[in-house]
Amino acid sequence: MTLNLLAIAAALLAVMGKINRAARMAQIGILLQTLGWVLLMASGLVTPGSTLDRVLSTLAMGGIAGGLTYSAIAFDLWCGRAAVARAPAVIAVLMTAGYCIGFGSYPFRVGWANGLLTLQVAIVVVALCRPTAIAVGRWRWLLVASLLVQMAVTAARGVLGAFYTELFPTFFTPHPANVLFALATNVTVVMSLVGILLAHRDEAERELARQACTDGITGALNRRAWMERATAVVAESQRGRQPLCTMLLDLDHFKEINDTYGHEAGDRALKLFVDGMAAVGGKRNLVCRYGGEEFSVLKRDADLAAIRAYDQRLRAWLAEAGPRELGVPLTYSAGIAVLLDQRDTVEAMLRRADSLLYSAKMLGRNRTLDDQALEASLA
Ligand code: GH3
Ligand code: MG
Ligand code: MG
Repeated sequence: MTLNLLAIAAALLAVMGKINRAARMAQIGILLQTLGWVLLMASGLVTPGSTLDRVLSTLAMGGIAGGLTYSAIAFDLWCGRAAVARAPAVIAVLMTAGYCIGFGSYPFRVGWANGLLTLQVAIVVVALCRPTAIAVGRWRWLLVASLLVQMAVTAARGVLGAFYTELFPTFFTPHPANVLFALATNVTVVMSLVGILLAHRDEAERELARQACTDGITGALNRRAWMERATAVVAESQRGRQPLCTMLLDLDHFKEINDTYGHEAGDRALKLFVDGMAAVGGKRNLVCRYGGEEFSVLKRDADLAAIRAYDQRLRAWLAEAGPRELGVPLTYSAGIAVLLDQRDTVEAMLRRADSLLYSAKMLGRNRTLDDQALEASLA
């Protein structure tokens, strides 16, 4: 099993290449576990009960429990949660410290270490079983099954070592429970690897899907993804007879920013603009980089007054953030379209907003027009 772990750890490091944080945590987890088992093997070669034995064995426990903690962090990330794994980490520290202190008593240290390892695995299993915010593949049940087997055999070793010490006097005792432990661990190591690789692939796929929907510079939705979602929201608003508004925004004289300060400053300005659109609006707004320096926002449950207020907040935000972050003011022209009736569509709303945006540019820029505002400015 140790050889198996060594080969897996080396292979993962050698061939996985550039990886994200979760996969890195899983790699560290396997590395630490491997180190733990190598040290445990090594401790079997030195004088039993010696200081060297205590040091090697304690480090081994730290490696095994620490490894599981890192795996738990990886599982959390793959389940779409924040990386915490606080409980497994606390148990790892507690187990290793207690093991070192009580090393003199074989029943205590075997019972303590295996008992707490069982608890640690149980906590990881519970975390894996909890409902997740994102869709998680079947790899998680493979991991749960592997960990449950691991839990059962670890618990059995703990009980044997602590309470039936004469049946299980050394780490290498060929007791059926120990043989079962060795065999089961071998299988679960391989199954865990399969689970880890599947989880990694799932996450890579999720990242690709995210990239396919978002604009790389600003993080806003791209036009295709926005149109798809906006179409669904329009249908939803029409069914529920809720108000809905969209606004098409175009930065004023943006070319001048590029020409004067360079393309990178231009990119920063685009990002700042989207940050502002997000900062002054609710989470449920759909913000989109429509193309170039043109953006759109779809605002649910918003009537004309609500989107006008949004527009005012954005202008105020930019007037402050533009000079501060870029050294130049950032203004825009925009057109607003309100959802009219059951036959209205996103495309039609965008056409109306675009025509008003064009008028806003014609009338001198740095303004937002809706039908009423256009009439008023023509009057
Ligand atoms: P107007 O007020 O009439 O909208 O003037 P404008 O300069 O904003 O409009 P124009 O269409 O002439 O220029 C748009 C500029 O936006 C030209 C293009 O180089 C720049 N642009 C488009 N996409 C990007 C980008 O991703 N990064 C940067 N830095 N510039 C971009
Ligand atoms: Mg422009
Ligand atoms: Mg433009």
